[in-house]
Amino acid sequence: MDSESTKLEMFFFPFVGGGHLIPMIDLARLFASHGVKATILAIPNDAVVFHKVINRDKSSGHDIHLHTLQPPPGEQLTTISSVDMSAPPFTDTSILQEPLKQLLLRRRPDCLVTDTFHRWVPDVVDAIGVPRVIFNGNCCFSRVCEDSIKKHEPHLKVGSDSEPFVLEGLPDRIELTRSQLSIFARREIEFPGKSTRAEQNSFAQVINSFYELEPAYVDCFRNVMGNKAYLIGPVSLCNRNVADKAERGQNSAIDEQSCLKWLDSKTPNSVLYVSFGSLVRLKPTQLHEIAYGLESSDYSFILVIGKIMESNEKSDKNWLPDGFKQRMMETQKGLIIKGWAPQLLILEHEAVGGFITHCGWNSTLEGVCAGVPMVTWPLSAEQFYNEKLVTEVLRIGVRVGSLEWASWNMERKEVVGREKVEAAVRRLMGGGETPEMRRRAKELAEKARRAVEEGGSSYNDAVALIEELKTRRKEGLGSAGDSH
Ligand code: UDP
Repeated sequence: MDSESTKLEMFFFPFVGGGHLIPMIDLARLFASHGVKATILAIPNDAVVFHKVINRDKSSGHDIHLHTLQPPPGEQLTTISSVDMSAPPFTDTSILQEPLKQLLLRRRPDCLVTDTFHRWVPDVVDAIGVPRVIFNGNCCFSRVCEDSIKKHEPHLKVGSDSEPFVLEGLPDRIELTRSQLSIFARREIEFPGKSTRAEQNSFAQVINSFYELEPAYVDCFRNVMGNKAYLIGPVSLCNRNVADKAERGQNSAIDEQSCLKWLDSKTPNSVLYVSFGSLVRLKPTQLHEIAYGLESSDYSFILVIGKIMESNEKSDKNWLPDGFKQRMMETQKGLIIKGWAPQLLILEHEAVGGFITHCGWNSTLEGVCAGVPMVTWPLSAEQFYNEKLVTEVLRIGVRVGSLEWASWNMERKEVVGREKVEAAVRRLMGGGETPEMRRRAKELAEKARRAVEEGGSSYNDAVALIEELKTRRKEGLGSAGDSH
């Protein structure tokens, strides 16, 4: 480890909300484990969410800290609801500008790793001269798909929303339909803010992925798209003990012991884990179809019910069919978790043999790390691209047949019926392709584990970024405001 005088100091500025906050905390912990002094800049609510894990890391000798950015007196982050892990992607955090600026001027870290959704950050940081590294939470595959669509606009050359088109310039043949593209990709509305500029002017990007998972796409992202990218994931693998895994993100709605006990009573690979992440809202009608589909399949399941698309959630308890919960409890076929689930613990349990996922990038990668094949059910964000990676490039999953992109809080027209759910579950858990999918998934899990071990590709990329920052400091390109 470096001496105090030469020790590198990195700041990490996560965005609010599950899918962006959780991996950034792991990222900071990962760099602290490499001997860097890591400081996480949090808003007050977030600091409460992960202070326990930071304290555990500290007591094991890591130089990791929390700094709470207090909004100016009289102002509040009223639109931020990170307490329930569901802050919308376009939440405006700009009232933190002044506290961030003052902190950077005072401390002058060697680098600020900032989430791409803090769209105002370049204006503050670049004037001070702190090297800025961007974290946007996605993999290279989806970034390459996005780029291809932007350049070639294939969706404008088809006759309808359901007519497939091929993405040009990709290493594999990937087809999508216009209905699966975001409103931003379809150019129906402009992507808010300055994210693209923020990425272009940043010193580098850190990506939560690993080279061996998507080598052709990493090469494309770096060499064709011209990004300086450090692949340092899967970051979730830095959670090594039960407490870290159980408390990740939020307190679970179920105590982890009873969850594990339920799983212990099941045979290996017999349980399906069903979750749609931290943000998206499903309608009760959709949840009913999922419930019926799961009930008529031959497999046990853990169903996580997160946010529900209802204006008054508390007064609407009909989000599951009549008697469903009771039947599942009596037969021990299903465990229903309403609220936050200890996802890493569940996925890693040997009883879990499949994952129905909305293909959020964190969940997808966590599924890869656990070596479980997936039923892909993309809904929003870049999830339709991730589905293609899982089902057609990695070939460790089957599609449920989701066709409609909608924003996380928009009511969607499409309801995927129970027959489709049941058919996808049967194909995943007991179909002819199941053994091969399982084998490939296990192989990828092993590669993921090796990537973050000493000498692995992600380990080496983390070291390379640290070395690069040290060089910049030596050459005076570091934090002293003279890089411009
Ligand atoms: N997560 C969890 N328990 C839950 C729901 C989500 O631990 O009940 C975690 C999950 O492990 C992942 C993150 O929250 O790390 C969700 O991120 P993802 O990118 O998959 O989806 P998003 O929530 O951003 O749509």
